[in-house]
Amino acid sequence: MKKLLVAAAAVAGSVVLAAGAAGCNNSDKIYVDTNAYFAPFEYYDKDMNIVGVDVDIMELVGKKLGKEVVFKNTDFDVITDNVQSGKKYDCGAAGMTITDERKEKVNFSNPYFTSVQYVIFQTGAMTADGNSTDGKETDYILWSSLAGKKIGVQRDTTGDIYAGDEISSETGALYGTEAAVTQYDNAQLAVDAIGAKQVEVVIVDKLPAEYIVANNSGYQCYALYYDAETATEEQYAICVTKGNNELLDAINEVLAELGTEGINELVSKHLGLGK
Ligand code: GLN
Repeated sequence: MKKLLVAAAAVAGSVVLAAGAAGCNNSDKIYVDTNAYFAPFEYYDKDMNIVGVDVDIMELVGKKLGKEVVFKNTDFDVITDNVQSGKKYDCGAAGMTITDERKEKVNFSNPYFTSVQYVIFQTGAMTADGNSTDGKETDYILWSSLAGKKIGVQRDTTGDIYAGDEISSETGALYGTEAAVTQYDNAQLAVDAIGAKQVEVVIVDKLPAEYIVANNSGYQCYALYYDAETATEEQYAICVTKGNNELLDAINEVLAELGTEGINELVSKHLGLGK
């Protein structure tokens, strides 16, 4: 009897090992899904390595767990599903905003960065509607000023979602004019589409907008506001396959150790690098 039990345990053990080898949770690597066109959070350096704030965070997590960190580039719109399945990826680090819909599929770390939506356009094509009265004193463009504009967004990102929310479900119109929203695979492609005259403006998160404007000549960007005191607001977090609490806990520990100051230092480091 005793022998049988040991045998059963050994079989169970080998099953667990096999599952570990097939999946990624128990391996000595952490597989991270990202979209590497979202500087300063993730971008390709001149040697075509994926670098950025999210990469630095995950490297610290790797160190804590004694695992190698492997970043892979995919389109943003598949990251949540990839992480939900957990087959190829343990987590997604992609300047990803916490949303209720995404929360149904993945677990999120604690938030590590707050962002707002920005609009990019060719220099001089739009003028600011005012200076905000929410204490940030930032020049802004009103969402309603996008009426009649051909808009580019990154597919399934919050820019896409916010723009979609502004489209009337009854008439399909955006501020009384026919909505013209085109989805692109990433922010750089969307901005290239301005140059190609396919769209006039691109809606994207603040720092990637500022980074793109700094690195592509002939563009400007402003914050998007609903009125002088109301902007969009969203929080970035790293998403992890549900059930992988070891990884989630390690990420949260690293984020707590970094704190706001540590994250801001990483942001400055990567904004300063350029391409
Ligand atoms: N923060 C935005 C979102 O989560 C955009 C992220 C990205 O494009 N990498 O939808």
